[in-house]
Amino acid sequence: MTIASRKIRLVMQLRRHGISDTNVLSAIERIPREVFVPSTFQDQAYEDMALPIGHGQTLSRPQVVAVMTQALCVQRGQRVLEVGTGSGYQAAVLSRLCRRLYTIERHRELLNLAEARFTKLRLHNITTHFGDGWKGWPAQAPFERIIVTAAAPEVPADLAAQLNPGSGILVLPIGRSSRDQDLVRVTRLEDGSFREEFLESVRFVPLVAGMPVPEALGGGGRPTMACRSPES
Ligand code: SAH
Repeated sequence: MTIASRKIRLVMQLRRHGISDTNVLSAIERIPREVFVPSTFQDQAYEDMALPIGHGQTLSRPQVVAVMTQALCVQRGQRVLEVGTGSGYQAAVLSRLCRRLYTIERHRELLNLAEARFTKLRLHNITTHFGDGWKGWPAQAPFERIIVTAAAPEVPADLAAQLNPGSGILVLPIGRSSRDQDLVRVTRLEDGSFREEFLESVRFVPLVAGMPVPEALGGGGRPTMACRSPES
């Protein structure tokens, strides 16, 4: 089966799952998922399955990407924040629907790969940040839309505070267990209060606070020069 026919089959599956927003479906059709998938999994690029991307992280299955993207109700002129760049696929899909997509990742190597893919595909309206997305991106806030692609135990207060009052929407998986999480949509109302809606059950990798410990410091790696005692 060619990539084109696999893609058509996937889009039909998404339609059957209730994805009816034609802008979302055409963004998914236009972004080549195979570019975001490790070479060993190329044949699975258009299967409805999650795929490993290194560092113990995963690229979500297309159905979950589509549900989250549709639930965000993105409009053309909006600025959108993603926490958890990973492979960059979800960011690429969203970048076709909004004015500017901001995305934060805590693994430098994953971010480097994602940035190279954005350049290759000429997705020039994506701005990346290497850091801890738990705190959002205060310098660029407020955002009309925020999407978190890793599971948090509760709605991170800093992210909710960076939503536009009156119309801001945040979509994220909530749950402490890795097996059973709730995909939730949080809307910030005019009076600053929040309304929460359950969308479906999902399984995501956890949203981790702070930055990864460099291998040289985390044990197992060779000690750096700075750690050695001075030679006499
Ligand atoms: N959206 C991605 C998949 C995300 S996997 C894609 O389309 O491929 C979840 C990602 O969230 C991982 O890359 C992980 O490193 C990142 N992550 C987890 N906690 C984070 C945090 N506090 N700040 C930024 N990124 C985080």
